[in-house]
Amino acid sequence: MPEWIEQAAGVYTRRYAELDLTVGLVVGSERCLVVDTRGSRGQGEELASAVREVTSAPPLIVLTHAHFDHAFGAAALSASFGDCPIWSHTACRSALTEHAEADRREWTERYLADGEHALAGDLAETPIATPTRTFDRAERLDLGDRTVELFHPGPGHTGHDVVAVAGDVVFAGDLVEHAPGGSFTEESFGPDTHLTAWPAALDHVLAHRPRVVVPGHGDPVDASFVARARDDLRALADLRAAVRAGTLTVADAVEAAPLPPEVVRAALA
Ligand SMILES: [Zn+2]
Repeated sequence: MPEWIEQAAGVYTRRYAELDLTVGLVVGSERCLVVDTRGSRGQGEELASAVREVTSAPPLIVLTHAHFDHAFGAAALSASFGDCPIWSHTACRSALTEHAEADRREWTERYLADGEHALAGDLAETPIATPTRTFDRAERLDLGDRTVELFHPGPGHTGHDVVAVAGDVVFAGDLVEHAPGGSFTEESFGPDTHLTAWPAALDHVLAHRPRVVVPGHGDPVDASFVARARDDLRALADLRAAVRAGTLTVADAVEAAPLPPEVVRAALA
């Protein structure tokens, strides 16, 4: 079973085997903040009980982005807490409205194909929450004796990523990933990814001088890991530009890139 790990006083992370997802919890004197919600009704309910093991403070929820594994637990999580506020970027709300059903279908089929029938059934019956509080650039959440700053660092993994700053611990969602033995995976790069803008988004994360950066998947990392990830993304963006300009073949780009071939192919697509 996953456990809460206290990264700083009252700031916790919890890493799951399923998709190696990492969620967060910040506990204040008046309220707590749950960062991301897991990917289904059952998973959202599990997370709600896990939060209650740590604190009885009334919760707020923030979604780092609209992808199902981060956002689809929100309805069950919020309902467990008596309909608590759900924060996101404005464009995250529209992405959920427009793409959640397609996302759900795609992943239900993937789970079925993998023989994960319980997960597929849970996902198929998961109600999708609509965020109730949205912002475009930045927002401060008052938890009582502490605040958490939410900000949108510009496009990156998606067009609407949100970063949550709790002192020197920064929750970066999928702007940062910590795959076993590396940084990004094939799943890091999708049709909603803005590869050329992503390095600048990570510069915004680094400008907060974080001691700990919590990725959307995998164990927390430090600022130097994020700086290397930024440099890798910059290299990928340059290689993709060369491929698009016709001065480099995909095979040569894959050879030259600092990441595994399948990850590079996903980034170049
Ligand atoms: Zn994602």
